[in-house]
Amino acid sequence: MTPQPDERHDPGTAPTAPVPGPDATRVLVLNSGSSSVKYQLIDMADGSRPAAGIVERIGEDASSLRHVPADGEPRETVRRFTDHGEALSAVAEELAADGLGLDSPRLAAIGHRVVHGGQRFTAPTVVDDEVLAEVERLVPLAPLHNPANVTGIRTARKLNPGLPQVAVFDTAFHTTVPEHAARYAIDVETADTHRVRRYGFHGTSHAYVSRRTAELLGRDPADVNVIVLHLGNGASASAVAGGRCVETSMGLTPLEGLVMGTRSGDLDPAVILHLHRVAGMDMDAVDELLNKRSGLVGLCGDNDMREIRRRIDAGEDDGHDGADARRAQLAFDVYVHRLRKYLGAYVAVLGRVDAVAFTAGVGENSAEVRAAAIAGLEVLGLEICPDRNAERSREARLVSPEYARTAVAVVPTDEELEIAAQTYRLLTG
Ligand code: ADP
Repeated sequence: MTPQPDERHDPGTAPTAPVPGPDATRVLVLNSGSSSVKYQLIDMADGSRPAAGIVERIGEDASSLRHVPADGEPRETVRRFTDHGEALSAVAEELAADGLGLDSPRLAAIGHRVVHGGQRFTAPTVVDDEVLAEVERLVPLAPLHNPANVTGIRTARKLNPGLPQVAVFDTAFHTTVPEHAARYAIDVETADTHRVRRYGFHGTSHAYVSRRTAELLGRDPADVNVIVLHLGNGASASAVAGGRCVETSMGLTPLEGLVMGTRSGDLDPAVILHLHRVAGMDMDAVDELLNKRSGLVGLCGDNDMREIRRRIDAGEDDGHDGADARRAQLAFDVYVHRLRKYLGAYVAVLGRVDAVAFTAGVGENSAEVRAAAIAGLEVLGLEICPDRNAERSREARLVSPEYARTAVAVVPTDEELEIAAQTYRLLTG
């Protein structure tokens, strides 16, 4: 069944904002989490980043704001920021102190990361009251994230009502996933009533990395098929055909798919029933188990891949006759096994694969994970060059041998730049 037409975003009725003047080339990117706000000011004229920062532990006694101007010393404020409103006001003051205030004529807009756009938002959208109400209506689908995103937008609007606010959705890039891949095989009416389907997340990263990978190959994104492996604390894979996402590993929520730092990824849904019926766990306890005490941390007690590799390398010398190392090795093996299953599946989804791109904290930094994920897949045209793979660099680069049929690449993600670029493009056309 196709989505209801009235649930789809109709670009014809999308709110518009005045076109920014020629000097207004800067976008402030805001990423409002449940207790934090990250921000970056990006100038789309030259790619410079005049300021960035983060507010953490909002609502706690010792909240902190770390403001990092491009040409100046970082400044740290430790005091209680009661809510996002106070936090954002303090950010605005820090920016103003550097001559970068929200009333600066060079600021074109604020670009907000919004986690869930449901089926309605397929592209970045200028925020008005109706859009904000719709993002709120999606809160049941992203109860941890969308409320913070809404608060961020509301506060930013109050601070400068004349400044365009643009919502850039984590789900938007995945709205091209075809119906047969987005559907769970459950009763259609139940699914539709409760908006249960696969939405996918990390969309701005998958969009950016798949395009950058095509650029690295010197080819038009429209002609290139890429598998993107976004391996951070959260992790997801996507299959991108000619610039359009056709499959992704996260689902209704960011819990599905790959093994993550603290999340289980795929499991038999009956595990939940079993834990409820047999172990007597209520839904909140299962939720906490699967989101916070599973994945790498559940398997070995650590969610940081660096620490896991350190334990493996320590081997028998870990002080516990190798028990720590064996648990770490098991976590690593489960993680890599899942990754390889998705890799194989996405080769089948795409048919022809031009590149596999590794990105985010683990993907960009762990040569061991990349090597283990690709090992023995020559039959799929995948191979890694050990020397290239061992090189450390912040640049996008190939780690496959020159002769390989399919490129394997490391492509650092830049979600802030993608949000700024999408925001600016929407306003300037
Ligand atoms: P997120 O944005 O999802 O919080 P990141 O993309 O920053 O996460 O990735 C964080 C993870 O990256 C860490 O938990 C750690 O496992 C991994 N990581 C960071 N640096 C390295 C490194 N040098 N080697 C291996 N893993 C690393």
